[in-house]
Amino acid sequence: MSRNTILIVALLMSLSLIGIIGIQVYWIIFQVELNEKTLDNNVLSAMRSVAEAVEKKEEDCSKQDQALLTKTYDRLVEQTLYTASAKRAIDEKINLQHLDNILRQQLLEHNINLDYNYGVFDQNFDYYAIVDNQYQVKPNTKNLVHTGIFKKLDVSKYQVKLFERHADYGTMGELRVYFPNKFKLIWSNVWKSAIASGIFTAIILFCFVYTLVVIVRQKKLSEMKNDFINNMTHEFKTPIATISLATDSIKSPTIIENKDKINRFLNIIKQENKRMLSQVEKVLQMALIEKQDFKLNLEKLSLHDIILQAVEYANLQAEQKGGVVCVDLEATDDTIEGDQTHISNIIHNLLDNANKYSPEKPNITVSTAQTYQGVKVSIKDEGIGMTKEQKKHIFEKFYRAHTGNLHDVKGFGLGLSYVKTMVLAHRGDIQVISELGKGSTFIITFPHKIPDKNNV
Ligand code: ADP
Repeated sequence: MSRNTILIVALLMSLSLIGIIGIQVYWIIFQVELNEKTLDNNVLSAMRSVAEAVEKKEEDCSKQDQALLTKTYDRLVEQTLYTASAKRAIDEKINLQHLDNILRQQLLEHNINLDYNYGVFDQNFDYYAIVDNQYQVKPNTKNLVHTGIFKKLDVSKYQVKLFERHADYGTMGELRVYFPNKFKLIWSNVWKSAIASGIFTAIILFCFVYTLVVIVRQKKLSEMKNDFINNMTHEFKTPIATISLATDSIKSPTIIENKDKINRFLNIIKQENKRMLSQVEKVLQMALIEKQDFKLNLEKLSLHDIILQAVEYANLQAEQKGGVVCVDLEATDDTIEGDQTHISNIIHNLLDNANKYSPEKPNITVSTAQTYQGVKVSIKDEGIGMTKEQKKHIFEKFYRAHTGNLHDVKGFGLGLSYVKTMVLAHRGDIQVISELGKGSTFIITFPHKIPDKNNV
């Protein structure tokens, strides 16, 4: 899969996900709005019925009064009193218990089973005459700032006019209802599906991101493997070509008579053969590690001896570039338990890298120090160093940092991965300190004794 295809697939998947999330959010909002609208309609319809009932009761009472009055007074007095009755304050016109009962009954009839507060606002005197089945004291001043339940009732959208027909006489009020748990009801049949769709979306999102990460990782790995194959082919081509040239030369009649020359060519063939063998061994070692079935031949070793041997070889290489390898072996007890071949390979690999990645005069220092449970080895170079990002990956198989102008540095990207596996197999630890352009220091610790004596 090419990088562009991955990008397009990722883009399409992201768009579809955004679409799905968008549709879900839209449906949830739609459902909530619908619930709210239904509730609003029911509440207002219930409240209108309450207003009607309250007004009817008041009219009935007035008529009774009127009937009573007609018997006693003439029409003029009657009219005056009726007007007086209409002008009565709102709290005088409403029977507290009747209002409370009818409101509860109407709300239940409209399927609203919710806690509520209610109030009757007297618009003439600008105060709440009744709140929750209780008459309120009329304040002396108008326009009081409302707090608490008064404020909630003020801003509630459930407000219905009372005694609108008496407006001529200046008695008008409003019935206001407030539901503290309104949102619970509105969300009651939505939250479950909202949570469920949230969880499913999160799972899809997780799988999507995970798949992308895996694809990118696999792609990187396959690129690295390709690099490895290219590298390996290149590494084998040179010795094969050299051997072919050497055998052709031996065959030539002028040389076949000359024993010295034949010996020289045979040596070249032998050396190139060795080189190929060591490359093959590296690859085989890696295959072995991958299968995790390697065995360590544990024995008591002098780490200093191994280091000195490796340094001798590394010095030859460093000298070719005008550099030097210094040693500073300070560990008081350098005995460790380990596999001679692998420990030696570890030191060799690190010295080899220190040399390879120091483009000018390698200046390498190998030092040891005593630690509580073992020996610490530091291999320090003043070479090209690494970035933080490179440091994160150097122990991965096939990883090779793009070394910029160091095109000729050969390698398979297997050395450090092998080193780390082996250090861990010896119950040791490996760390790297490095700064781009300044150099790197690899620090390994080996315990004197490996706790688990079984082969790892
Ligand atoms: P190889 O050397 O074959 O590429 P390694 O596994 O030994 O593979 O190293 C992996 C990468 O780590 C190298 O390609 C290089 O970029 C980086 N690296 C290793 N050692 C050093 C060092 N001493 N200084 C700078 N970079 C290093």
